[in-house]
Amino acid sequence: MPGSKIQRRGLMLVLSSPSGAGKSTIARALLESEDELFLSISMTTRPPRPGEEDGRDYFFITEDEYNQKVQGGELLEHARVFSNYYGTPRTLVEKHLTAGEDVLFDIDWQGTQQLRESARDDVISIFILPPSYEELEQRLTGRGQDSEEVIRKRMAKASDEMSHWPEYDYVIVNDVIEESIQNVQAILKAERLRRMRRLGLGEFVNSIRSKS
Ligand code: 5GP
Repeated sequence: MPGSKIQRRGLMLVLSSPSGAGKSTIARALLESEDELFLSISMTTRPPRPGEEDGRDYFFITEDEYNQKVQGGELLEHARVFSNYYGTPRTLVEKHLTAGEDVLFDIDWQGTQQLRESARDDVISIFILPPSYEELEQRLTGRGQDSEEVIRKRMAKASDEMSHWPEYDYVIVNDVIEESIQNVQAILKAERLRRMRRLGLGEFVNSIRSKS
């Protein structure tokens, strides 16, 4: 068995940020660059936005379906985020982790707390911050089609979400996107190498020692 193929335990990589901090761009880049990383597709009761696809961006479900899944223990974590409900389906995540693959989550601070409580050793959490107030405002203003009131509410939501940064393992200020992507890749690489995740190390070392 070559050293690079030592069996390891999959990890759960959580990205959280206020909207407008660049989290989706980072997530997309990471999914492209990493072979053993899979996106957890959440369920939500909010209606799809233009361009969103059921089963790709989210599984869009009704509030009744959501309640049934919560009661049936089908969600790994779940939370109300502003006025909608969101949750992570359990089965697929567990399948990937068991296969020694990693799972990427785009979830809020409430979901992150729940994952940490249920699987502390397997969760690596990263909080993405915008580089400045001005930049965040600019990103949330979008194409200038929204009223001042709508933008003010978005900024207030972002500020609320941002207050949770101390609960995360890593914090990245997303100034230059390429650098932020590299930083997340570096975190993932190092975390994959942690001794406790490398289940096959003992066997590997024994196989070398037994020949000496
Ligand atoms: P949006 O509706 O804009 O796609 O997402 C709103 C917020 O809900 C984002 O902060 C996103 O990270 C969070 N979110 C998406 N899916 C889940 C989920 O399954 N669980 C939790 N706790 N939050 C989620």
